[in-house]
Amino acid sequence: MAENRQEVIIAGSGAAGMLAALTLAKAGVPCVVLEKGTSIACSNAARAGGPSLAGTRLQREAGCLVEEEQLFRHMYRHSRGTVDAALLRNIVNEGSRVEELLLSGGIEMEVLEDSYGVGFRARQFMTTDIKDRWKRLQAALEAAGGRVELGVSVEELILEEGRVTGVRTVNQATGEKEDRYGAAVLIATGGYLGNPEMMREHFGEVTIGALGSPLSDGTGIKLVLSAGGRLEKNWGICANEFGGYNHKAKQRFSYSMRFAICGGLLVDRRGRRFMNEQYMSDQPLSLGGEMTLRAGVYYAVLDHAMYEGILRAQTLYEYYGRPKDWYVGKTTHDRPVPGQENMEQAIKEGYALRCDTLNEAAETWGLTELKQSVEAYNRACEMQRDERFGKAPFLLKPVKQAPFYVFEYEPSAWCTLGGVRTDDRCRALTAAYDVIPGLYVAGVDNGSCYCAPYYDTEGACLGVAFGSGIVAAEAIREDLELKSYS
Ligand SMILES: Cc1cc2nc3c(=O)[nH]c(=O)nc-3n(C[C@H](O)[C@H](O)[C@H](O)COP(=O)(O)OP(=O)(O)OC[C@H]3O[C@@H](n4cnc5c(N)ncnc54)[C@H](O)[C@@H]3O)c2cc1C
Repeated sequence: MAENRQEVIIAGSGAAGMLAALTLAKAGVPCVVLEKGTSIACSNAARAGGPSLAGTRLQREAGCLVEEEQLFRHMYRHSRGTVDAALLRNIVNEGSRVEELLLSGGIEMEVLEDSYGVGFRARQFMTTDIKDRWKRLQAALEAAGGRVELGVSVEELILEEGRVTGVRTVNQATGEKEDRYGAAVLIATGGYLGNPEMMREHFGEVTIGALGSPLSDGTGIKLVLSAGGRLEKNWGICANEFGGYNHKAKQRFSYSMRFAICGGLLVDRRGRRFMNEQYMSDQPLSLGGEMTLRAGVYYAVLDHAMYEGILRAQTLYEYYGRPKDWYVGKTTHDRPVPGQENMEQAIKEGYALRCDTLNEAAETWGLTELKQSVEAYNRACEMQRDERFGKAPFLLKPVKQAPFYVFEYEPSAWCTLGGVRTDDRCRALTAAYDVIPGLYVAGVDNGSCYCAPYYDTEGACLGVAFGSGIVAAEAIREDLELKSYS
């Protein structure tokens, strides 16, 4: 039995866990990160693009400072009040510290353009090689006096007189169980993408392609519930902005996946149009991705003119005639679609069809209302007016000319959103809103700082996860009255 009741125990070495640990260690608070994976580079954060932050040095240097107030207001408005305002504000306020910890930890970054037209440049891209990033953070943590143990899964919480005082771990190599006691426990295990049962519970009988780590299997959330915590209300995903997904496809990001976000006709499993497809071309990460969850499985329907037109034009922006007011067209759709055209492969793998009549597609996938949907859509294209869902006229291209190309897609996600309720300092709460002493939750396990649909500020997943790690660490310091360490 490991007995170091001074040490803060952190479950998960991802965005929230590592920044919490760095914050604590740099303040002189002993801490250990217990990571289920056997590599320090196994978390989603270690492989991610980059966070959206406010108040950073790099933004100042690039002449595009994003004020904390601006980012907070934007995100809170997007959430429609479904997140804890004070928690989100506390997290956003930590932007400059997130940046400082990453830069001083050896992770280089650069400020990106505003890809989705939110009106400011909050996202910073981590340019340091994926192989090195988290090794460097680990080294920085160890230099500050913190520790990381790999291959150790946190499986249970230990409670003593209503206070969380430790965890039961399982060594992934030996299966050996161990009780470890500490000053406080921070849960930061990265959600439940790797738990099909939980995915079904929240999203129904839908395949949601897991683009992130299966090690995040909801254990963290369950542990908090086992200690008397409660679930929050928002359940969603950080969706794949690069295109569609189909579990039958061998290649995840192939050319044939791009038609999910090309702005053309999308129909549901009955062949009915179910959304304004512009949300998929313009906001696939947040609103568009959320809408595909409603359909579960959906189909992109193109005719020969459109399929060949896109192929010839090379970029989607070019294909649609370079509309001046199509912001996302310029920022994200004016580069060649990556990969080779691979229709034959897609057909072979069973998620695409080239057919002379739409009837064939309807029969193959049971799209019983496809014919009527295409007729109605073609009328809208003729009128250049989408009375049904309000898509921009320039995206209205008819589906008329054989052969037709139909692609079957499923939603996919970088990570899940939705978890347990905390207060504005990441302290786990009971159903009666009482703080559970000794228990903190950060990152995507914390349901109080993420909304569904996901924020439209690209990089919010990571930005909020990093920031919440710092907020939790500060709460732990204060609650334990450990300020004397600093
Ligand atoms: C390829 C990829 C690219 C991405 N790009 C971006 C991006 O550019 N911008 C953005 O905002 N978001 C991005 N995301 C999402 C982002 O990475 C996550 O939102 C973020 O990492 C969440 O941080 P976290 O700390 O909650 O969890 P994670 O970073 O996922 O870390 C959780 C850690 O906990 C570990 N763990 C799980 N269970 C246990 C257990 N029982 N005991 C101990 N350890 C456990 C996991 O192995 C993992 O290492 C991306 C995701 C992926 C997969």
